[in-house]
Amino acid sequence: MKAIQISSPGADFEIVEKEIPVPGNNEVLIKVDVCGICHGDSMAKEGHFPGIKYPITPGHEVVGIVDKVGPGVTKWSVGQRVGVGWHGGHCNQCSACRKGDFGACEKSLTTGLHLDGGYAEYMIARPEIMVSIPNELSNLEAAPLLCAGRTTFGALSLSGAKGGDLVAIHGLGGLGHLALQYAVKLGFKTVVLSRGRDKEELAYKLGAHVYIDTNTGDTSKQLQKLGGARIILCTAPSGKMISELIPGLGRNGQAIIVTGSMEMMQISPMLLLGGERSIRGFVSGNIEDTLRFSVLTKVIPMVEVFPMDQVAQAYEKMMTAKVHFRSVLKMNHKS
Ligand SMILES: [Zn+2]
Ligand SMILES: [Zn+2]
Repeated sequence: MKAIQISSPGADFEIVEKEIPVPGNNEVLIKVDVCGICHGDSMAKEGHFPGIKYPITPGHEVVGIVDKVGPGVTKWSVGQRVGVGWHGGHCNQCSACRKGDFGACEKSLTTGLHLDGGYAEYMIARPEIMVSIPNELSNLEAAPLLCAGRTTFGALSLSGAKGGDLVAIHGLGGLGHLALQYAVKLGFKTVVLSRGRDKEELAYKLGAHVYIDTNTGDTSKQLQKLGGARIILCTAPSGKMISELIPGLGRNGQAIIVTGSMEMMQISPMLLLGGERSIRGFVSGNIEDTLRFSVLTKVIPMVEVFPMDQVAQAYEKMMTAKVHFRSVLKMNHKS
């Protein structure tokens, strides 16, 4: 099979020929059709994550068909259309697992960081983390929902905001264009915050109620004029921008960060104290809930498809936010 791997932190992608892996005990072999390219893959590419053993194949928005099942697998059978996301496995025995908090498992595995991921024609997955893909979604539509969709839907639906509340989506890229659709379908008064006017038309097309050009420099004042945001979902990786948005939160408002940035944030403690505002990160969420809601409300990602040998371009377009709006790799499977 062909697989795309990174041989050391910061190295280029390389396409290698490998033996198709054989599923061991409690493992499933998936014939991968497509895999979304996510900002989280940069952790494998650049080595920004503890415990990665190189070479590693990235990719955690994987859709394919069950090709073989190892001993002990009872839930999945050959031929089923399945998906794999960021969470790659848990032990079912530690204290967190015993509470049902699998994301906090002390032996938690991440797809494409601890285990080879979906930038390959075949991959091994653990049965406890796989999901079934609904018939209503194509493989290309489903892939970005497995991480980008799960995170943005989870962050918004579990935020405590109620129908009619003012919710701002900062950034209208891979995460933002899904977050916007979810916010509208969840019944929030949805404001899009984006630089310039380029994305205004798309924002309204996807259902936004208000569009604010952040280049005008008074974004938080404009949010306050609308009553103050109950939630600001921060999908753009900029510590500086997030800091500037916090004054736009209303009383009890919450900024939720769903994408990583090493940049420092500077926020007045008085601002958080006075209106009991808060800032949090969110990386969990449930894939099956996300797929169900997406099918029900017709939230569909917009994607650009790339063949395996264009992985470097696809990754670069994602990292520079030039892709419309999610890069997805399509595997070759010629032989
Ligand atoms: Zn991701
Ligand atoms: Zn555990």
